[in-house]
Amino acid sequence: MKLTLKPGREKSLLRRHPWVFASALQIPDDILRSAQDASGLTVDLLAPGGQFLARASYSPHSQIRARVWTFEDEPVDAEFFRKKIKAAIELRGKLKVESDSDAYRLIHSESDGLPGFVVDRYGDVLVLQSSTAGSEFWKGTVADILMEEKGIRAIYERSDADVRELEGLKPITGILRGELALFQREASLWDFPITEHDLKFNIDIAHGHKTGFYLDQRANRHRVGELSKDRDVLNCFCYTGGFSIHALANGAKSVLSVDSSAEALKLLEENLALNNLPAEKNTSLEGDVFQLLRKFRDEARSFDLIILDPPKFAPTSAHAEKASRAYKDINLLAFKLLRVGGILVSFSCSGGVDAALFQKIVASAALDAGVEATIIEHLSQGVDHPVSLHFPEGAYLKGLICVKN
Ligand code: SAH
Repeated sequence: MKLTLKPGREKSLLRRHPWVFASALQIPDDILRSAQDASGLTVDLLAPGGQFLARASYSPHSQIRARVWTFEDEPVDAEFFRKKIKAAIELRGKLKVESDSDAYRLIHSESDGLPGFVVDRYGDVLVLQSSTAGSEFWKGTVADILMEEKGIRAIYERSDADVRELEGLKPITGILRGELALFQREASLWDFPITEHDLKFNIDIAHGHKTGFYLDQRANRHRVGELSKDRDVLNCFCYTGGFSIHALANGAKSVLSVDSSAEALKLLEENLALNNLPAEKNTSLEGDVFQLLRKFRDEARSFDLIILDPPKFAPTSAHAEKASRAYKDINLLAFKLLRVGGILVSFSCSGGVDAALFQKIVASAALDAGVEATIIEHLSQGVDHPVSLHFPEGAYLKGLICVKN
């Protein structure tokens, strides 16, 4: 199938951005009708003058109608995917990610030239997430190639992200390749922990968020550990305790870990035990951070280090305004709860809020809290989550470390 861009709409492809929106395509009626069966098929994208621009996957149900596999006139086949996967694995090797952890992102979608594919490595098990018609079409091929990799025992599929709906795809989870002797606990499904900077974490690959763990925060958890000694730490949106475990292992005086998910807090308790950490120094509190921060303020509580790592408030810029209010709210309250000389580590993983806007929001939170603060570090996603220069959307995680003066 060949699809032609409308005049002027080929510009983003010429800049090597991998997405083509439905509105940018001239699609003849007959193609449109037959396209319902074309989910995930490879199509040629042509300039209005007929020149070849790129080879892409076709998503008949999505506003992002095509996603580029390659800008070269080359076949998109098993060899193509083998080449891309090899490059992604080699990059992680060069970055020496394995010296920090046996759990890391192996394939980061568009940024590794494989739109729709996320593959995370947890020891000898891979967790694969397919989120587009194109990745769904090639999923089996990609899984077979990944199984050729040394030391891989199995691939577990977690294709249950909401974005699949936009592609007309149903959620799919389960063992995709290999064998996995999983032992079943109440809510979790895993048979050994991963190691991150010498600390151990039990991972629930079947029910946990994302593919089980927030791998993108690895370096930032380590950094927070370094800043935690002798401090009273408040870890908001703590999930399974990533930041809490690093803080305690590095000599935090106390940690208060807050999350709305009881399952996540249960894993946090397991993770404390796994690392032989003094459980009495951690308090796990199930609840809503927005309400609890107000309660702590009313109780005049204070902390030396506060971590705010909320879920994605703004998936796209359309949600930016509402999300800005939410970020400002929690950052303002956190500034109030911080002791002078205390540290705020504040994150946003919202694609719809860029780093400049996020910094403005934190600044205005400090202003309204009546607090002077200084940025001492800018944080981002880990090196195993690279960002293609042509796909700035790939840079989603930003963080600030601020000191309250
Ligand atoms: N910092 C964690 C990841 C945080 S993910 C790590 O390093 O592993 C965001 C967490 O926020 C999720 O665990 C989710 O359960 C929790 N959450 C979402 N909304 C919440 C709310 N209003 N109050 C408390 N927790 C919330």
